[in-house]
Amino acid sequence: MSTAIVVGGGIGGMAAAVALRARDWSVRVYERAPEIAEVGSGIGLWPNALRALDALGVGSAVRGSAIEEQSAGIRDARGRWLSRTDAATMRERFGAPVVIHRAALLDILRAAVPDSVVHTGATVESVDHDGTVTHSAGTTTADLVVGADGIHSVVRRAVCGEVAPRYAGYTVWRAVVEIAEPLAEYGETWGRGARFGMVPLTDGRIYCFAVYNAPEHAPGTLAEVRARFADWHAPIPTLLAAADANTLLHNDIYDLPALPTYTAGRIALLGDAAHAMTPNLGQGACQALEDAVVLARLANAPDGLTRYDHERRPRTQMIAHRSAQIGTIGQLSARSLVALRDTALRLAPSSAPIRSLAPILDWTC
Ligand SMILES: Cc1cc2nc3c(=O)[nH]c(=O)nc-3n(C[C@H](O)[C@H](O)[C@H](O)COP(=O)(O)OP(=O)(O)OC[C@H]3O[C@@H](n4cnc5c(N)ncnc54)[C@H](O)[C@@H]3O)c2cc1C
Repeated sequence: MSTAIVVGGGIGGMAAAVALRARDWSVRVYERAPEIAEVGSGIGLWPNALRALDALGVGSAVRGSAIEEQSAGIRDARGRWLSRTDAATMRERFGAPVVIHRAALLDILRAAVPDSVVHTGATVESVDHDGTVTHSAGTTTADLVVGADGIHSVVRRAVCGEVAPRYAGYTVWRAVVEIAEPLAEYGETWGRGARFGMVPLTDGRIYCFAVYNAPEHAPGTLAEVRARFADWHAPIPTLLAAADANTLLHNDIYDLPALPTYTAGRIALLGDAAHAMTPNLGQGACQALEDAVVLARLANAPDGLTRYDHERRPRTQMIAHRSAQIGTIGQLSARSLVALRDTALRLAPSSAPIRSLAPILDWTC
């Protein structure tokens, strides 16, 4: 039986463990945290990711814990629609996108492998091309090492040396909130140098995110975020009023430059370790799930890792590039450019969002 070590027990690493085990690999996951856990926020899963989850055998469990995205689109800060996504056509052509709590998604993946697979509190220090992994509990060798250790990956150093993540120029605050009134409409709102998003969760709560241009590492407080969006359309100020400073998440947004390869020797990178992208398309985890399925399909084949690199690198780098472009447009702040952007969005045909997403959403295993 072939052996694999997966470095990192996030969404990408756990998906890789499930996928490889289904192809009869003996798998160990090394996760540095004391437990397999995700941050407290929602995550959008597009139809391409749901197809990957189906291939992993957990698609129904995920759909059962998720809620279908019913309405989406972009409004301006006064609440006027700039663009609406045709949810019915989307569902018909690709299947419905869903939103799930991150913890629920990771729990489902974690439950799909036996406890003995997961080694928490195990920090990987270095990896060699021959499959030797040096970690906090010693050294282990495997036929395949999967670098699923996120944007600051240690495994990536063995594949392409030091690669520094790039700051995108904007920062994001995330909250899961509860308000008295159910919302009739969800989606994003684009203003000048700032955006706000609201997405339903299964339990009636709402996952919100507030994004704005800021210098890297700029501190901030919930009071400042509330002030920044105070004159935006309802229910944005109400949602921010309901946010709890103790559970709010604040992250500067980074991506990785395009790597020259995702593989070296017995090592393959996946997820954010390979292609951390800005969240503007909501595809980072979706691509990690696709990576896991494709890697497991190819890993045992002759030249399997080279084929994995050829199949995954162009697609994920195209998506990362498009995601960054959307961020640039979404974060425009000059009044004249914002007016032009908003007009272009308003005049675009209603089929435009789905047409532009098609090459991403039509992925099959
Ligand atoms: C604001 C925001 C919103 C987003 N929204 C979406 C969305 O709606 N849809 C979507 O698809 N994606 C979204 N993403 C992207 C998504 O969160 C990531 O792409 C995804 O979580 C990456 O998963 P991963 O497993 O590759 O990496 P990670 O989640 O970073 O997991 C890496 C794991 O490796 C462990 N680790 C790190 N180093 C070591 C080491 N040396 N030894 C052992 N373990 C180690 C870490 O502890 C961690 O558990 C969003 C991202 C952000 C920032």
